[in-house]
Amino acid sequence: ALNQLPDVSLPRYVRVNTLKLDVDSALLELKEKYSVEKDDLLPDLLILPPGTDLHDHPLVNNGSIFMQGKASSMVAPALNPEPGWEVIDACAAPGNKTVHLAALMKRKGRIIACELNKQRIKRLKETIKLSGASMLQSLKLNPSSDIHVLNEDFLNIDPKAPSYSKVKAILLDPSCSGSGTAASRLDHLLPSKAAGQDTDMERLNKLAAFQRKALQHALSFPAVEKIVYSTCSINQIENEDVIKSVLPIAESHGFELVNPFAEWHCRGLPVFKGSENLVRTDPAADGEGFFIALFAKKKNVQKKKK
Ligand code: SAM
Repeated sequence: ALNQLPDVSLPRYVRVNTLKLDVDSALLELKEKYSVEKDDLLPDLLILPPGTDLHDHPLVNNGSIFMQGKASSMVAPALNPEPGWEVIDACAAPGNKTVHLAALMKRKGRIIACELNKQRIKRLKETIKLSGASMLQSLKLNPSSDIHVLNEDFLNIDPKAPSYSKVKAILLDPSCSGSGTAASRLDHLLPSKAAGQDTDMERLNKLAAFQRKALQHALSFPAVEKIVYSTCSINQIENEDVIKSVLPIAESHGFELVNPFAEWHCRGLPVFKGSENLVRTDPAADGEGFFIALFAKKKNVQKKKK
């Protein structure tokens, strides 16, 4: 069935890990074998012809480039953390967005990579190691650099604890149905699917309840100024509905929805005022169905707090 994927004709994207290699050097090296172009939205993203197989490429094996789709590579830049900031990646494994944050922050600042699942912590640590970012053993050590891995339930992290008092940005990429990914869109081809309709709805409701809770929790960190929420789902219930239900709480904390990619062609479903700030990627045109929402503290609120 995989051969019938609708997106075999779509380009292959790779994200250059600027912790290890600059974009132009990656471009030059890949150009020896492939026709490569720079992406017009993300400066660290390169576009290769459909079907390019890079699995065993030396640049992939040594962590200089990551095989990461465009939509997934848009999330950390949407948050756009500044070097020196303290940032939480709330649901971090396998860590693609964690190490993208580290690259954008140019090794300056602190990233707390929180992951509930012990098995997936291993993957997260491997990704961090491969990326060349350094890992901290303790939150209290050397607050001026890189990534601290935390095997915790994000919902159990106390926003009032002193270790989190300076957290300025949170990336929340919670567990979701994955309905925007190619593998999941082929689910209907599997014979077992029809029987599971009801439980699917139950599962979606459960996921959405967690997503809402996690987003509310993110909003409660005292110094947080930006929160990005993303899913690889195309379901309104996990996307616009989550944002809509949390928006009044966000606004009461002084946040507003802002548009991270003004020129982007695909927007959130128009189900509430402000949904034009939401970003969707289109499974057919963009290869994956992602959803991105960015909350930012209103400028005058930020000033008043200083
Ligand atoms: N951001 C990751 C990346 O780009 O590589 C992908 C994250 S994946 C969509 C969601 C992750 O959240 C899973 O690894 C899951 O185990 C973790 N997770 C689920 N519930 C959690 C919770 N309550 N606290 C922390 N992590 C959680």
